Amino acid sequence: MASVPCPRAPVPPCPRVPCTVPLPQKPHTSVNICQRDISKRHCPLDPTIKTRRVKYQREHRVFGDDTSVTLRFTTRLKTRPRPEHAVTIAVSTRVLFRTEVEQKVFERQGIEEYLRYQIEHENEPFAPGPAFPFVKALDTVNSRLRELYPQSEELFDIILVTYNHAHVGVRLINTINHHNLFIERFCMTGGSSPIGYLKAWHTDLYLSADGAKVREALEEGIAAATMFFPEKQTEVSESQLRVAFDGDAVLFSDESERIFKAHGLDKFFEHEKDNEDTLLDHGPLKGFLEALGKLQKKFYAKGRRLDCPIRTFLVTARSAASSGIRALKTLRAWGLEIDEALFLAGAPKGPMLEKIRPHIYFDDQMFHVEGAAEMGTIAAHVPYGIAQHHSSRKNPAPGK
Ligand SMILES: [Mg+2]
Repeated sequence: MASVPCPRAPVPPCPRVPCTVPLPQKPHTSVNICQRDISKRHCPLDPTIKTRRVKYQREHRVFGDDTSVTLRFTTRLKTRPRPEHAVTIAVSTRVLFRTEVEQKVFERQGIEEYLRYQIEHENEPFAPGPAFPFVKALDTVNSRLRELYPQSEELFDIILVTYNHAHVGVRLINTINHHNLFIERFCMTGGSSPIGYLKAWHTDLYLSADGAKVREALEEGIAAATMFFPEKQTEVSESQLRVAFDGDAVLFSDESERIFKAHGLDKFFEHEKDNEDTLLDHGPLKGFLEALGKLQKKFYAKGRRLDCPIRTFLVTARSAASSGIRALKTLRAWGLEIDEALFLAGAPKGPMLEKIRPHIYFDDQMFHVEGAAEMGTIAAHVPYGIAQHHSSRKNPAPGK
């Protein structure tokens, strides 16, 4: 029996490998294809393979003495935004997945043994790492955006950055398919620095376990943070992306932090009072908050403010009445809305973050990053500003 082509035309070509089987653009539509034709055409839509791009159910139907297969598509084909339109998030393999075992093989036995190990284990997916819930939440937001704006390219785009050799790519692709992640862009540098590529991709945020590379990215003007493996991890929302930011040296410059470090708390308060109407300069993560705000506004424009799948938080050691007003005036002047602002006046951030349950929290001081992580928050360090020379576990900065 001859195969029955999809009645909808024109149809896009199969995105994976050369194939003559048409894919319907609408979900929940069916294509009847003769089973013999599938094998003859080497169709990638092998019913034994579950792809993240096209999920389908297989049904057998007997027509006379031949068998046809109905492929019922249950998801819409996803568009890939161009870098200049997307909010581009670059994540390293070592924070998206857990690769400690492989890292030890590399450190103890060298590159050749490491590559051999990876190839031998290429059908074993890596376990999720600290950036995994964040990346899943980005995909959730993308799904909501696609529902509201089917043609828009203003979406999150995720790039997997790795120093690995291309041989390891097979295991990474298998892992991405296993976890049903939507990552099409890889940057496999084979040991070279990825920073130049990140600039070319218009990267809005770079997350890595390598502090030196994160500092290099920050020096190039790319928002970046170092991630760690928390011993415990609180559950986070699966329907809303929640991102929390520290203020000084994260959203704002370290101008006020410098006054505090050099002259103490009284001088800091005096400086903030005198400069209440002077805007703070921008910090390394301001651009990322701006990008989140741009996407939030797309939901607001469709009347979805109350169930917006992106929520942002400011969690700062500043006090509301004294030094907080300058921070709020600055955000307002930038046109940035932050959904919730918590002025802790020196109280520990960990308990507050435990309640917020962000997918990621950014802070420039390791003291706060460690405090948050101890309580199960996925915290990332932004190695920027004067606090890098002062902050330590034994000598935390008091509230301002
Ligand atoms: Mg700070």
